[in-house]
Amino acid sequence: MTHNWAAVRDEATRYLQDLIRIDTTNPPGNETSAAEYLAAVLKREGIEPTILESAPGRGNLVARLKGDGRAAPLLLMVHIDVVPAEANAWTHPPFGGDIADGFLYGRGALDTKELAAMELMVLLMLKRTGKPLVRDIIFMANADEEAGGRMGAGWMVKEHADLIRAEYAINEGGGFALDILGQRFFTCQIAEKGTARFAMRTRGRAGHGSQPHCDNSVLKLAAAIQKIGAAEFPHHASATVKLFLERVAAKLGKPHDKDLLALLDAKKYRAAVERLPLDEGLRSMFYAMLHNTVTPTMLNAGSKVNVIPSMAEAKCDARLLPGQTSRDLLHELRAVIGNEVEIEFMDDTPALESDYQTPLFDTIARVMARHEPTAPVLPYLVVGATDARHVRKLGTKVYGFSPMLAPTSELDRVHGHDERIAIDSLAFGTRVLHEVVREFCEGVDR
Ligand SMILES: [Zn+2]
Repeated sequence: MTHNWAAVRDEATRYLQDLIRIDTTNPPGNETSAAEYLAAVLKREGIEPTILESAPGRGNLVARLKGDGRAAPLLLMVHIDVVPAEANAWTHPPFGGDIADGFLYGRGALDTKELAAMELMVLLMLKRTGKPLVRDIIFMANADEEAGGRMGAGWMVKEHADLIRAEYAINEGGGFALDILGQRFFTCQIAEKGTARFAMRTRGRAGHGSQPHCDNSVLKLAAAIQKIGAAEFPHHASATVKLFLERVAAKLGKPHDKDLLALLDAKKYRAAVERLPLDEGLRSMFYAMLHNTVTPTMLNAGSKVNVIPSMAEAKCDARLLPGQTSRDLLHELRAVIGNEVEIEFMDDTPALESDYQTPLFDTIARVMARHEPTAPVLPYLVVGATDARHVRKLGTKVYGFSPMLAPTSELDRVHGHDERIAIDSLAFGTRVLHEVVREFCEGVDR
């Protein structure tokens, strides 16, 4: 069956526009309103959805297209909450869904209501053609990703695992274009870093602000923070990043291939990264892909300007590479800041890394090769965190693949002002995702 792609584009655009106009800013979330919108669309087409609330207003939607069970289910997952927007800094209202110059504007246009619209559209297209499926396709639009997922994907995994159990899942986290030294690649996320957030505290002697002394908790904390800022933490090359850089090097060839491969070598990393003509964004991304990172984000000390406080505290956002734990990080931290500073971990969520030698990855690579033959798909490690960390507890292989044409610069708008998606990119993504899901789940003719 041939699809009318202009009509598909317009329909997906309408869904995205409608979803953006439903304010699901988290907190408080109110995702039920968006879930009800999706439910109404699905019902109209004969797909029976279920909405499950983790708390009043915190709706999670699940729907299923049945296959014949020859293969295990595929989960299309997406979060429908968004981060707050400072409306007065936007040129188009964040919940207006305006279209201007080929872009659709709004909070969630790239994170991740675009994927919600695409997955919805793909589900509807498969339902309409009605071809038999070899596996179930499950659609989950969940709450609360932006606040950690405890009321969303985390809750679904805990309370309703049977509704979403799948062999594979497609999620946010990859699918965008990545330009490296003049060559375009597309990403498919198979790994993401873990988190090990911690508080660090220094103690000293209280006293009067008029009589400075060196046993001042604030000065000690400042010194520790400065050391963290200046430190280069130990280098670790995970399997995914190895694969990623080997493929980039192979595609680029001379003169940069040697230096790209040298990034994988702890001893050669620093010199190689200096030699490569990388922009600031790539340089910091490569660093985060090859090191545990520690970012101080919150400070707390003192309650009166003329009193030297006996305790000062900083909170740090730390990210762990695959295979690393908070204990490993503690060792690395101690080497930088010494033993005097107290460190208390607030969480320890390990990184995740899935196999890429799978039929789903192959399908993604094959479909992308048809659409973008000069831009290979790279197995990719996301340095942030997504709902994948919840769903992988069910043994699901989660791939981040929300295909889009947007250059990386557009992604700076994620969580920023004037978030937007090119309508062409939404159309491209819908088409690619449809082909991936169709070929993976119908299992026959292309
Ligand atoms: Zn986000």
